[in-house]
Parts: sequence; structure tokens; C-alpha cells
Amino acid sequence: MDHPDELVPHVLIFPLPIQSPVNSMLKLAELLCLAGLHVTFLNTKHNHNRLLRCTNIHSRLDQYQGRFHLENVDDGLPDEDPRTAEQFTEILDSLQSVAEPFLTEVLSGERFSCNSSKRPPVTCIIADGLYYYVLDVAEEMGIPFIFFETISPCCLWVYMCIPKLIETGELPFKGNDLDAEVKSIPGMEGLLRCRDLPDFCRRDCKADRGAQLVMEEIRNIPRAAGLILNTFEALEGPFLSHIHSQAPNLYAIGPLQLHLKTKLAAQSRELPAAVSNSFWVEDASCLCWLDSQPLKTVIYISFGSLKNITKDEFLEFWHGIVNSGQRFLWVIRPGSINGQKLEQHDDFLKELNEDTKERGLILSWVPQEEVIGHPAIGGFLTHSGWNSTLESIIAGVPMICWPCYVDQQVTSRLVSETWTLGLDMKDTCNRSIIEKMVRDIIERRCDFDQCADKLSKLARQSVAAGGSSHIDLDRLIGDIKKLSL
Ligand code: UDP
Repeated sequence: MDHPDELVPHVLIFPLPIQSPVNSMLKLAELLCLAGLHVTFLNTKHNHNRLLRCTNIHSRLDQYQGRFHLENVDDGLPDEDPRTAEQFTEILDSLQSVAEPFLTEVLSGERFSCNSSKRPPVTCIIADGLYYYVLDVAEEMGIPFIFFETISPCCLWVYMCIPKLIETGELPFKGNDLDAEVKSIPGMEGLLRCRDLPDFCRRDCKADRGAQLVMEEIRNIPRAAGLILNTFEALEGPFLSHIHSQAPNLYAIGPLQLHLKTKLAAQSRELPAAVSNSFWVEDASCLCWLDSQPLKTVIYISFGSLKNITKDEFLEFWHGIVNSGQRFLWVIRPGSINGQKLEQHDDFLKELNEDTKERGLILSWVPQEEVIGHPAIGGFLTHSGWNSTLESIIAGVPMICWPCYVDQQVTSRLVSETWTLGLDMKDTCNRSIIEKMVRDIIERRCDFDQCADKLSKLARQSVAAGGSSHIDLDRLIGDIKKLSL
């Protein structure tokens, strides 16, 4: 039986102000709307404006018949601030000073619930684990709170073990031996070396602001009513069991990209032609270009939405990729090569494209999920961001990993050693290594095909009726309804 609108659960979703958490949390938001819940999606104003500029999000959300609400909060920084990855902790601090009072007003009903008579009061909050301060606001207002950790769960487990590594003396590293084995992480014995730990472990964890934020995040997880993870049991079951010991109410509902597509298909709804949550305009011309390339011959190269590279690193990649003789599609974001001016970007890409037009295409931003799923793609040279990794797993495409920060060092180790889905280039950036790995991933694809196909199938099964992620999503929706009573 349908509830009258005022009894319908209303979830406030608050992602980190970064492309990838916005991507995965928007997918969760749509899944909750499909289940009949009201959702308010709260972006920073800066990112909200980028979404509106680069996508058709409003018309897409119309299908949810007034249950999907987009809102924004100022991050407290001037408009012209570049908001780079290096400034991330400053952005978080600035946002906190504005978001805390803003959320108090939202939860007390002084904000947008009165904008529309159709919007019920917020009955549950889902926010990123780094917004642990929102817990205080939610607890004070008596609103249930669920964390969503959008990083790789295998890395979340490593985060949870960092206090133990410090206690046993494994951190800080002795003698800077990056190849020494890490012994005190249950479930990862014989797998991780010091170089596979999150990047802040190479610095003084006690003095590093990023490390402190992570420790605070982990400490607060048990306070939340639940923890959502973008993964599936068949991929990370053993780590989920370990995380479970510290967060008993776990919902592993991924891969969300696939879960949303599957649910829409099950309800016989078509995904609109251009589904995009991108902060940059997607250049779909690459899809026609891919149509004209032979099956599984193109290496796709992208380092995600945050990573910048130096000019020297760019040259190593350029020579390595060109010398490999393979076909390639390369995303170079405006401003992502250090020292290069934004206004030079288009001319720079034009020149590169002129030099390599027989075999390659270089663009500023592409519809990545469609690209990775294209039959011409034979491999993915990635920075091992969690969304990119999941998208590659769904498509059954092997990876070359060049990790940099957050969860990427741990993820890339699992990609190469546990899931046998590719090669880990960690801590090197050398043209001959790149050339060899690109050639190997395309020409010796059969080494990875079996594992890649198997995991891709398991991902599909997990979100189909009766699959582990499908069951966990139903449980999450049921629990939100109960918490909202
Ligand atoms: N992405 C995209 N087009 C591009 C490059 C990336 O749509 O040209 C998307 C990609 O599909 C993924 C996200 O950007 O969903 C990047 O997230 P990830 O977790 O891999 O890395 P991050 O950006 O957080 O470093």
C-alpha cells in the first residue's frame, strides 16, 4: 500500500565534494528513489553548478516524479579558488564550518522541507565517513545516520588496522624498506608490502592531517546505524568479514554502476541516452572512433578526476604508449599536467592528436563507463581509483595500475596479486616499463581473460535478484523505512 507523502522516508545524501563519491552516491540516490523513497542530494554549490553546466541531470531526475531533490551548500571558499586535490583537507575544514549549522537547520525543518509541501522531513542521513561531524548534528536532532565509505573496502580494512600497525611498531617503516612485508593486517598476510600501504604511511602518520582525518573517521564508524560499501561479496568477502567485526551492520551493495542499470532494466525503464554525472563535458566522439577499431585492441588511459602529473611523467607515458605500437584512447583533463596553462590545453591536445592520429585519440573527458564497456577496449591504464577499478571489473577489462594516493596503493596490489586482473606499475614511471606493460596487457590478454570474465559474471550475479548486493540493498531500504518510523 502507498504511504501518503508525509510518511514516506526521506534520506539526505551528502557526498564528499569530489567527482567519484558524487558518482557513486548519485547512483545510490537513484536506487532509493526507484524504491519509492524521497532523496535530497546535497552537493557543494561549486559542484552543483558544475553538474548543472555539464549534464542533463534535471531532466533525468524528472523520472522520479518529485521524489529526487537536488540541493547545495556553500563550501565557504571563494568562487575562483581552484579546489585542487592537494587542498582537500582545507576544503573539508572550510565546508565543515558552513555545513554544520546548515544541516542543523535542515534537520530541524527550517530549510528546504518547507520549500515544497510535497517534501517530507528528513528521516535518515547517508554521508561520507569523512563527515563524522555530521554524526553529532544527527545525534542531537535524533535522526539516524548511516555512513557510506566510497573507497575500496580492502583499503578501509587496512585503515582500520593502522592503529595496530603503530602499536606493533610496523609503522613508521624501519629503514624505509618499502619491500618489507606488512605482517599485522589479518587477511592480508604475505600480500602487502610497505609500498602497498596508503600513501600517508610513508609520512609521519601522527603529524599528517590526512592520516588524522582517516583515524577519526575509523573511530567514528561504530557510532553510525550502518555502513554502506560499494563492493560485492564475491569480490571482497574476506575483507567484509573483517570489517564486520568493527561495523556490524554492513551493506555491500555494489557495484552501484551495474546495480542501477540492472534495476532500471528490471523495471523496464530505459537509461536515458546520455546519462552523465560528470563535472566536465563528456566528449562522446570517442565512441564512433572506437567503433572503427578492431576488437580488444585499444588501451584506455585515464588517471581519474583528481590526479595531476608532472611534465616528466607525461613524457614517460607519451613515449611508452607511442613506442608500444598499440592503439590508445587517452584522457588528459584540462589543467592536469603541472605547469601547463588551461588556455593552452586545447592546442596541446590538437598537436598531440595530429602526431598520433593513425593509432590514438586524446580527449579532455569521456563517458568512461561506456568507453570501458566498448568491445574495442583491450586494457585500461588506470590510477586505480575505486570507481575506475569497479568499472573495469564490470566490463571484464584487465588493468595496468599506476596508483598514487588514498586507497589506490592497496587496490592496485589486489588487482595484480589477488584478483589477477592486471599489472601493478607501482612507484615507477619509466617509458620502457610502460611500453612493455601496454604491449603485454593487449597482446597477452589471455593471461587475464579468465579471471576478468569470471569476476565480471560474479558482479552481474551479485546485483541480480537473489544476489548478495541485491539482498543487501533490499535490507538497506527496509532498514531505512524502519528507522524512519
Ligand atoms: N570518469 C569519467 N570520464 C573520464 C574520466 C573519468 O566519467 O574521462 C569517471 C569514471 O568513470 C569514474 C570517476 O570519473 O567514475 C573517477 O573515479 P575514480 O574513483 O576512479 O577516481 P578519482 O577521480 O576519485 O581519483
